[in-house]
Amino acid sequence: MSDLPQSCDVVVVGAGVAGLVAAADLADSGLDVTVVEAEESVGGRVRSGKQDGYVLDRGFQVLNTAYPAVRRRLDLDALRLRSFPKGMAVRTDRGLLRLHASPSGALSSLSLFSGTLVRPSDLFRLLGMVAGDALEPADRLKKRPETDIITALRRRGLGKRAVDTLVRPFLTGVFLDESLATSSRVNDLVWRSFARGRLTVPHAGMQAVSDQLAARAGGARILTGTPVHEVAPGRAVTEAGTVNARAVVVAVGPVAVARLVPSLPAPVPRPATTYFHSRPARRHEDPLLHVDGRGRRRGPRLSSVMVMTATAPSYAPPGRALIASSTVGPHRPSASEVRVEAARILGTGGGDWEHVSTVHVPDALPAAPPPLGDLRRPVRLEEGLYVAGDHRDTPSLQGALVSGERVAAAVLVDLAGR
Ligand SMILES: Cc1cc2nc3c(=O)[nH]c(=O)nc-3n(C[C@H](O)[C@H](O)[C@H](O)COP(=O)(O)OP(=O)(O)OC[C@H]3O[C@@H](n4cnc5c(N)ncnc54)[C@H](O)[C@@H]3O)c2cc1C
Repeated sequence: MSDLPQSCDVVVVGAGVAGLVAAADLADSGLDVTVVEAEESVGGRVRSGKQDGYVLDRGFQVLNTAYPAVRRRLDLDALRLRSFPKGMAVRTDRGLLRLHASPSGALSSLSLFSGTLVRPSDLFRLLGMVAGDALEPADRLKKRPETDIITALRRRGLGKRAVDTLVRPFLTGVFLDESLATSSRVNDLVWRSFARGRLTVPHAGMQAVSDQLAARAGGARILTGTPVHEVAPGRAVTEAGTVNARAVVVAVGPVAVARLVPSLPAPVPRPATTYFHSRPARRHEDPLLHVDGRGRRRGPRLSSVMVMTATAPSYAPPGRALIASSTVGPHRPSASEVRVEAARILGTGGGDWEHVSTVHVPDALPAAPPPLGDLRRPVRLEEGLYVAGDHRDTPSLQGALVSGERVAAAVLVDLAGR
């Protein structure tokens, strides 16, 4: 805390990925940059804890290698990425439906259920949508009429059963939005990156992403454990004193930004909770993402269940498996209720599972309802005061990284003009 300067060129509030990218670009341009972070470590929502040899990310999350900003800003080789297989397993009232990315895999799985769960015509429509979006240039996708996801799916002719059994369970975990009220434009772009890229986690956990960004922002001074209480153009009041600066960049999450910048329309936060359990590892673990495609029932509703160690064995000590089960929304069922439900979805017994930890993130993602237009909200509030974070772009790592780049560019233009 004693390192807090009285003044510098730019103060960045928040060392999440948006703040770290902004700090790197500004420091690279020769400015004196100070990053002030409330927590004791950098990364914000992209962090990992370590407990008894388990790697516990801040909720179940993945790094999509097709995101353009991810490719620009990260050394992916150095992260030693582990790739999840493309596809998912859906627990239905009739058994486990395994959908692989290859059309033949999807078709052979569905033939077991032909006509009873999902109409073949819906399956072809769905495959056509995935393949079509993957080939379409992003600029063209952005020109499609924008609505919410559920309306867009209906317009594309997808039947209710296919939506409720396949699409809704999957997208609930992606946007933390069971009602599918998220912008269809965001969905089109995310869908396209799923089809084009790999879904991965770094060998050492998602924290490795933030550590790499922090190392690249080495030209900036990064002070952790220093909450900021108030910001104004050219000034930030922190726990350790006041810093005057030519520019203040507020790069905090959807909840904190509403407190620090009350003049900004407050982003609506979407909460998520991930329950980590362990059990003895098995010889053949199922690496597919498991979702719940059954109708409404009593008990906790899980948005996804993933045996992390089937893909990333480094997430647990030797001989153990780590399972991440997630729920969306404010409800937080008990770990034992989640264990029972997750084991049902996987189709295994849960008797030998042990609860490792539960991670609740109140603002895991900002809501992104239509209309979002060109997906970019202003990052310059007034001269000397700027804002960044996923709530300024798309609710994802891609959005957070791009917002960091955009805010740095805006600050540089203003400072050059003064
Ligand atoms: C459970 C979960 C799953 C996710 N899944 C995915 C996924 O699969 N793919 C994907 O692309 N994205 C995913 N995301 C979203 C992604 O993690 C975020 O979009 C991104 O990390 C946001 O970064 P940010 O820098 O905008 O904000 P944050 O990471 O929230 O960073 C803000 C920083 O500001 C700090 N701060 C807040 N208030 C103050 C203050 N007063 N003073 C000083 N510092 C302050 C915070 O401590 C934090 O470090 C997921 C997120 C969660 C939580």
